[in-house]
Amino acid sequence: SLTAGIVGLPNVGKSTLFNAITKAGAEMANYPFATIDPNVGMVEVPDQRLTRIDELIPAKKLVHTTFEFTDIAGIVKGASKGEGLGNKFLENIRQVDAIVHVVRAFDDPNVTHVSNKVDPLDDIETINLELILADLESINKRYERVEKVARTKDKEAVAEFNVLKKIKPVLEAGKSVRSLEFDEDEQKIVKGLFLLTSKPVLYVANIAEDDMAQPQECEYVQQIQQYAQQEGSETLAVSAKTEEEIAQLDEGDKLDFLEAEGVEESGLDRLIKAAYKLLGLATFFTAGGKETRAWTFKQGMKAPQVAGIIHSDFERGFIRAETISFTDLDKYGSLAAVREAGRLRLEGKEYVVQDGDIIEFRFNV
Ligand code: GDP
Repeated sequence: SLTAGIVGLPNVGKSTLFNAITKAGAEMANYPFATIDPNVGMVEVPDQRLTRIDELIPAKKLVHTTFEFTDIAGIVKGASKGEGLGNKFLENIRQVDAIVHVVRAFDDPNVTHVSNKVDPLDDIETINLELILADLESINKRYERVEKVARTKDKEAVAEFNVLKKIKPVLEAGKSVRSLEFDEDEQKIVKGLFLLTSKPVLYVANIAEDDMAQPQECEYVQQIQQYAQQEGSETLAVSAKTEEEIAQLDEGDKLDFLEAEGVEESGLDRLIKAAYKLLGLATFFTAGGKETRAWTFKQGMKAPQVAGIIHSDFERGFIRAETISFTDLDKYGSLAAVREAGRLRLEGKEYVVQDGDIIEFRFNV
């Protein structure tokens, strides 16, 4: 399954945030403690649609879909030329599908900063520079070889060389590959290069509790946002310390706490949703009977493939997907009413499943 890796300089609040994640995960119903790597934190994906579906199509049990964060260990600075821990840092990033980059955006004289000053842009650039250098090294390794083959007019080599030519100067200028735009064919080539700076990134500004009600007014947040925007990335402001406290509360206390802070949703819930989106994930539902359940699929997947997420037999024997959208169920108020309105769809093998679809798969056994 796809995972988002948490990275950041030392002392910016990564462990605090990761603790919040694992604590929230520990509250989950069927939490498979024993099987989990200590660097992996599993959380439920908050989704209010599940409760609404249960109201309209009652089931014995509600099951949320889950999602994994990975805590990226290792030393950042000098990683690209380094051995040991530095290399491990880059290797760990290579394994994840998206990056959650935690940046310190709080002042606190009691918490040492690695470079003795709180400077979000400098922090971001320190990490990104290591990733850029590592990518430049991979690109340089291929460059001459691919150029040679491209001279023979080999089509694939020409296409790849054009991509390399586009990427190289950008990296040399100290920018991430994700700041470039690629067409569909180029995207495939870029994917095959396994670069670090082409992975999607979410910047998480770790703000002071005092800034929680109005994060937009925090100058650090504004700086991070500005940087993120120019490479097409998003920024999320959370207070890791507060999230760690919230994660230990039960649901009722949590809601009271959030209300008192003047926020609707916990930072962790926002983070989970943002990371889910960052990975291109979406949710479909199965409803009624034993359980109503949310499932994760990758956007763009077709019905048989999605059926295979539930069980491989569903994919092999796929006949059709009887589908209604959550929006329709919510609007018409019952399954019967949705049917009556002609909004039940019989979808076939080529159907691209949409976020919020409620599906009953028909299959041969
Ligand atoms: P890591 O090295 O990035 O994993 O950082 P830690 O999570 O261990 O945090 C480093 C220190 O900063 C710890 O003493 C935390 O308690 C403190 N810290 C983390 N988040 C916050 C925050 O939002 N506000 C304040 N004031 N301190 C924080």
